Amino acid sequence: MSNPAFAWLRTTGFGGSMTDRFQIQLSAGEILFQKGDRGDCAYIVESGAIEICHHPELPGGVVARLGAQEIFGEMALFGEGTRSAGARAGEPTTLTRVTHEYLGERLQAANPMLRYLLRTLSNRCRDLLNGKDILAWQPAAVQQDNADRTAANARVYAEQELTLALERDELQLHFQPIVHLSGLEVAGFEALLRWQHPQRGRVSPADFIPLAEESGLINPIGRWIIDRSCSALVQLQAARPQQPIFMSINLSSRQFDDAELLPAIDQALARHPVNPALIKLEVTESLLLQRLDDGLRLLQACRARGLKVSLDDFGTGYSSLSYLHRLPVDTLKLDRSFVLQLDTNDAGMKIVAAVIGLAHQLGMDVITEGLETKEQIDTLRNLGSDLGQGYHFSRPLSLAEAAAFVRKSL
Ligand code: C2E
Ligand code: CA
Ligand code: CA
Repeated sequence: MSNPAFAWLRTTGFGGSMTDRFQIQLSAGEILFQKGDRGDCAYIVESGAIEICHHPELPGGVVARLGAQEIFGEMALFGEGTRSAGARAGEPTTLTRVTHEYLGERLQAANPMLRYLLRTLSNRCRDLLNGKDILAWQPAAVQQDNADRTAANARVYAEQELTLALERDELQLHFQPIVHLSGLEVAGFEALLRWQHPQRGRVSPADFIPLAEESGLINPIGRWIIDRSCSALVQLQAARPQQPIFMSINLSSRQFDDAELLPAIDQALARHPVNPALIKLEVTESLLLQRLDDGLRLLQACRARGLKVSLDDFGTGYSSLSYLHRLPVDTLKLDRSFVLQLDTNDAGMKIVAAVIGLAHQLGMDVITEGLETKEQIDTLRNLGSDLGQGYHFSRPLSLAEAAAFVRKSL
């Protein structure tokens, strides 16, 4: 089986090697199925030849002859319909079965619009082959797929809304202060995305970032965030020119292969007078490890431009300390879950102290997230965390409020 399109048959779902359960041997002239039979699978010709005909029990009448690597009976994969033609072996033939269940599982995991379109097309095609008038086509079978249709349409509307949100300036950045735990002065800000929806009000990033990632819209949105964050940093720095302020920008793993991301960073740095060393890109530990090669390539290119890198949400994923020294990371961001453990658990305190100590030995500084009480701040300062971020200092602020926060903390 050399066709790469079918490589998945060997490598996934079927336990790695082909078994007889999936192979069918036919002798010359043997009938595989008749027109009108119910179908629950498609077939790939491994060797030999298959003749598609309306009456396979009668000689001749061949409408198509298929050879090695060709697929047939595929409409059965999108719903168990009846075969619109028969199939028989033109010579000794070996076939591989691709079951309805196999594709069903993959379709279930796919975008609902893809599922809906494939079903609609296969139903339409089946009706055409059965001689129905395509111009008078009634999507009777499609109505059974109401749930898919509703989900598909909802997804299309949501993606279109998010596209328009970017064009209509409904997306905003808010900025949450990050402070030095020693002197409590502002060290920097994290840019956090907000969607001010005209009807639904403020939509949480937790609700729309996954949609932006799945649809790929995170790429243009992400480039817009970089430009706006650099522009904001210039204004925040003007509120306190004597001491540097950094800006943390969240990156999604989907952006790792955005070919326009590095040019967008270069443009933002050319357009706004910011020191690249004051831009920190935040990537989460789990996303970086999932796409290590692409992630490392991008982060190394960013560091070559002088930008810094933070490992976000440390403690929620693998938190394996063994690889930490191999990642191009300047700052470790301890997740809020670490802080929550501290209130209840003495061992938790030792773990946090050890993680902070290790980060320092590797030359990283440490930001602790989610500091909500004065006690937590005191504990984390004593444990050695350099910087802190959390509601106790401030919630995320508009740009004007953030500039006022900098001036007030002077
Ligand atoms: P994150 O990167 O971990 O951002 C920190 C989140 O924790 C923010 O939520 C922030 O408002 C919240 N937070 C800060 N201090 C506290 C605290 O003391 N207590 C509690 N309970 N929460 C606190 P937000 O703004 O809702 O963002 C949620 C997530 O959405 C972010 O988590 C990040 O993963 C994603 N996100 C936000 N903005 C962007 C963006 O511009 N780009 C990308 N790719 N993702 C973003
Ligand atoms: Ca973050
Ligand atoms: Ca975080």
